[in-house]
Amino acid sequence: MKFNSVPVLLPVVNLLLVLAGSAAALSPVDDVRLAAAARDPASWLSHGRTWSEERYSPLAQIDEANVASLAPAWVYATGETRGHEATPLVADGVMYTTLPWSIVVALDAATGRELWRFDPAVPKGWGRHACCDVVNRGVALYRGRVYVGTLDGRLVALDAKTGERVFETLTIDSSRPYTITGAPRAAAGLVFIGNGGAEFGVRGYVSAYDAETGALAWRFYTVPGLPDQPREHPALDLAAKTWPADATFESGLGGTVWDSLAYDPELGLLYVGVGNSSPYDRRVRSPGGGDNLFLASILALRATTGELVWHYQTTPGENWDYTATQHMILTDLVLGGRTRRVLMQAPKNGFFYVLDRKTGELLSAEKYASVSWASHVDLATGRPVETGRADWHEAAAMVIPGVAGAHNWHPMAWSPQTKLVYIPTQEMAYPFHPERAHRHRPGYMNTAEDFPELARRFDGFERALKFCSPTALTAWDPVAGRMVWQATHRSEVNGGALATAGNLVFHGSGDGALAAYRATDGAKLWESQIGIGVIAPPISYRVDGEQYMAVSVGIGGSAALNMTEFDYQNAGYVIAWKLGGKALLPDVRKREPGEVVVAPTEAKPERIAEGQALYAVHCLRCHGMGTKSGGMLPDLRFSSRETHARWNDIVLGGIRADRGMASFADVLDPAGAGAIQAYVVAQAHREPTWLELAGRFLYEQGVCLPAAWLAD
Ligand code: CA
Repeated sequence: MKFNSVPVLLPVVNLLLVLAGSAAALSPVDDVRLAAAARDPASWLSHGRTWSEERYSPLAQIDEANVASLAPAWVYATGETRGHEATPLVADGVMYTTLPWSIVVALDAATGRELWRFDPAVPKGWGRHACCDVVNRGVALYRGRVYVGTLDGRLVALDAKTGERVFETLTIDSSRPYTITGAPRAAAGLVFIGNGGAEFGVRGYVSAYDAETGALAWRFYTVPGLPDQPREHPALDLAAKTWPADATFESGLGGTVWDSLAYDPELGLLYVGVGNSSPYDRRVRSPGGGDNLFLASILALRATTGELVWHYQTTPGENWDYTATQHMILTDLVLGGRTRRVLMQAPKNGFFYVLDRKTGELLSAEKYASVSWASHVDLATGRPVETGRADWHEAAAMVIPGVAGAHNWHPMAWSPQTKLVYIPTQEMAYPFHPERAHRHRPGYMNTAEDFPELARRFDGFERALKFCSPTALTAWDPVAGRMVWQATHRSEVNGGALATAGNLVFHGSGDGALAAYRATDGAKLWESQIGIGVIAPPISYRVDGEQYMAVSVGIGGSAALNMTEFDYQNAGYVIAWKLGGKALLPDVRKREPGEVVVAPTEAKPERIAEGQALYAVHCLRCHGMGTKSGGMLPDLRFSSRETHARWNDIVLGGIRADRGMASFADVLDPAGAGAIQAYVVAQAHREPTWLELAGRFLYEQGVCLPAAWLAD
């Protein structure tokens, strides 16, 4: 064969490889290859491996019999110390993944060697607009390009070979606190991306961009805009009927599309998970009542046009941060003797939904965790039946699921072998405190909760009371609507799931371990004690005949920032394992006990109380309940003399904005910043109460509280 004839033959060879279901080297990742991804076991081509988001690897070289000899093949140190939530993609021996601050890297999937690294240079001060850490959950790979959504709202297209920027487009109004943490998806010549920010007050939407040019193809707003403005599309006429005239339209209403999307190429439908309201309290947001479409809904949109085909609202009149942005899985189930094309979701509200994905018909909705807000879902009407026990407009209420949800962003996995869904579940109650006379204030959390009152009541809470098994991996039978097995963790911070054809489920945890369970019965067959929390979902792929399992490592996200204290220094890695791997796990460094260097405050109790209230509103979500940091961000009790000396320059002057500490001069004055400092100093010198000491002692003895007992 002449050398110059090779390029002509390559497409033919590639086509044959695709048809043979083998490695398909150099075949472009396009609609044809993505549609056939289920038969391409070596690769992990899109966020949920396939467009149907099953997160099931057909590889079985690593199986229940040999998983015990799984060992690290390579370790890539990311150099980043915030939360690592990304799902890596793998095509043709190259891994593409994202890091905190929306950084993208390409690695040799067999060795972990860095091929290129792209930093979109997100202004670090934008981190203030992130409710739940400066995380990113991954890229889309399509027609030779890598697409990433950046924290500050850009969609960036990179050359997959070089990491060079091809184009970028701003997807948001930068005068509002939008953030992107979710992974784009690509299909039909388009790239789909949403955004977050509902806690602060934004209007949710999902956009489709031309994959080639970056031009906006369509945008679907999930909630109505200002009543005196024209409606952008016909579905908003339907939505507007469910919003009374007295609704707080200026808050943006929420409904952000911050994570889950799924695509059915046969139906041509893009499924969109819609988030919670802004503000949370429905009697503040929508005093005249109403379902408030399309909050907390699953939408089916015509992928090429953005036209609404059907919708299902999981929580009408959303009131508890019950997003329906959780991972959606498309598969076929035999229900009542009939094979149905279904969509499955376990949203925050505690019910596992099975819908007919062609029509949106509700097929089942069963509780997969403790639920206090509704007794059941009426299948005839498709609506939940509320208990009334979770109302919190008049008085505080302890509600389960809490704001963390019975399941959050951590992806679940579906095994067509076991016919089980593996859900990262949570049992955590949350006390909602109503804010009197709420008004929308830019730069604030706008949930209509009384955070100062929450802090006054619960500053020592996490030391006095620990929930039993707050997080778990729950194996769920979606046909029977029941749990089959459950593996529980002690950490409040959960991880994502992967199912494989080796009859295995891999799942990490804030406990610092990654484990493999037998998919059929939950027996723990392998565990790697990494020492640093694993919140991201593992993936599996094959290079040169060897199966790998890989995961992003690094604790973060909202629960890690504000609920838990970790005893290690956080560090970011991507780690891959294989049978008989020879690499070593990274050295994990213990957190040094902090030293209080500042003298006790002489501030009056009222000033400390004022500081506690302001801290609860502006600082808690990153620096932690009661000033106790989880460890990713500075624990303010142990601030240096320099930090205390330059306090107002930092808090108001923004001199550490380049390290992620934005200026808060728009919401705080020098007196307020000083009051926060007085509170921090008081906390640094505060002795734990007898209740906290007793609670910690009992927890160390293994005594804990079932979260459901606490719910009103
Ligand atoms: Ca939320």
